[in-house]
Amino acid sequence: RSIMGSHPGLTIKPSTIFDIMNNNIVAIVGRPNVGKSTLYNRLIGERQAIIDDISGVTRDRQYGTSFWNGKTFTVVDTGGFVKNSEDVFESAIRSQVNIAIEEARVIVFMVDVTTGITDLDEEVAGMLRRSDKPVYLAVNKVDNHNRLIEANEFWSLGFENTFFLSSITGSGSGELLDAVVEHIEEDTETNNGLPKFAIVGQPNVGKSSLTNALLGEDRNIVTDIAGTTRDSIHSRYTKYDMDFLLIDTAGIRKKSRVAEDLEFYSVMRAIKAIEEADVCLMMIDAQTGVEAQDMSILRLAQRRNKGVVILVNKWDLVDKETNTARDYEAELKKRIAPFNDIPVLFISVHDKQRIFKAVEEAMRVYENRNRKIKTSQLNEVMLEAIERYPPPSHRGRFVKIKYVTQLPTYYPAFAFFCNNPKHVKENYKHYLENQLRKQFDFSGVPIGIFFRQK
Ligand code: GDP
Ligand code: GDP
Repeated sequence: RSIMGSHPGLTIKPSTIFDIMNNNIVAIVGRPNVGKSTLYNRLIGERQAIIDDISGVTRDRQYGTSFWNGKTFTVVDTGGFVKNSEDVFESAIRSQVNIAIEEARVIVFMVDVTTGITDLDEEVAGMLRRSDKPVYLAVNKVDNHNRLIEANEFWSLGFENTFFLSSITGSGSGELLDAVVEHIEEDTETNNGLPKFAIVGQPNVGKSSLTNALLGEDRNIVTDIAGTTRDSIHSRYTKYDMDFLLIDTAGIRKKSRVAEDLEFYSVMRAIKAIEEADVCLMMIDAQTGVEAQDMSILRLAQRRNKGVVILVNKWDLVDKETNTARDYEAELKKRIAPFNDIPVLFISVHDKQRIFKAVEEAMRVYENRNRKIKTSQLNEVMLEAIERYPPPSHRGRFVKIKYVTQLPTYYPAFAFFCNNPKHVKENYKHYLENQLRKQFDFSGVPIGIFFRQK
């Protein structure tokens, strides 16, 4: 029943290309050693380091999530992609700047007051001035008053939005962020329009093949070489009571990309697709299993509160016995814990197996993400769960949770009103999350839990 071949009436409007949708990507560009990763670390903060330690995966310094003035956005440190070989770096930086101009919402262009304006700075400034993206010039290493005077020469680069900061101490970075997040959307903005699904995953996992299978036409050539297929576009899918936009990330631009920016480009595309999507169809190769890169994608989707369905593709290539799928799923869920209340499907795009099911599952997760629970029902079940297992006391102080409400966010988030909100431990938060998941269907959806003073 889940075989695409049995749905010959599939109709799509393939040529419907939608306007570039909003994304919340802030890219930091600039020469090596100006302080990009120092600023990046400051923006990403300790919080994420802790989350990443829990998942046991080495953190990459390429992209992460930041929060400022009630807004959530993804910061990309382009410096994380450049190998420090002298003869390639200038061209690599040039192409990174071009990719950032194409893909990011806002660009932070960092320069270094201690070196003054270099030729490469001039060149990058020219590229950025010609772009139509908002650009913020961050003159870094302005650690003291003398350097503030020297920093004035950077006005000559011609950016109205020029900020002086010291990434190492953090001074000035708040002003920069205040300005940057003007372009970022509020977390409370509600979903509108069609559901948006993104197909994400590592090169060669089968993203283009899946897109083609869904869209039912060969408008693109799928090849065996990783990353050689077409551009990402948004296509509208309307069939079987479904109506959604498919954002796919496969492919590269017509301009040929050299090896050094291929990685940067494909990561940027993946981030952007995740940013734009409500639900990510995350493809994993059945033969390699979950790899560090897959974990990075998954964590990003989770931190940006996106729905996720995991598709283990190329299932046709796996030797199967009775419990293979069950064991595989158990192993996979262990690997992606603690966020593992995620639907997992074993598919074969090649054999057209369970492809339609994948879409149905994405729609289900979309609905879960928009689920609103009535306050009365929420309190009924959650206060009972709390009574059964109250928050442990902390140094003789008791936490008393009085009531709970769902917040008006675009993803499920709940506020528990209590005395001593600061004394609620992480473990207890997990307990509440598990109870919510047990009582209501939030499969595939990250949940926000907050404690508020009452
Ligand atoms: P990137 O290559 O652009 O990512 O630069 P890094 O963040 O690795 O920084 C390069 C060097 O500059 C490091 O030694 C940093 O400690 C130093 N640095 C970064 N920000 C500042 C700053 O605001 N003031 C000073 N004095 N040094 C800084
Ligand atoms: P992308 O880079 O993620 O877009 O991956 P592609 O769609 O280009 O697929 C990469 C390769 O995997 C191609 O040779 C596909 O024919 C092959 N492939 C995709 N899905 C399957 C599958 O379910 N089973 C098998 N055996 N091969 C597949």
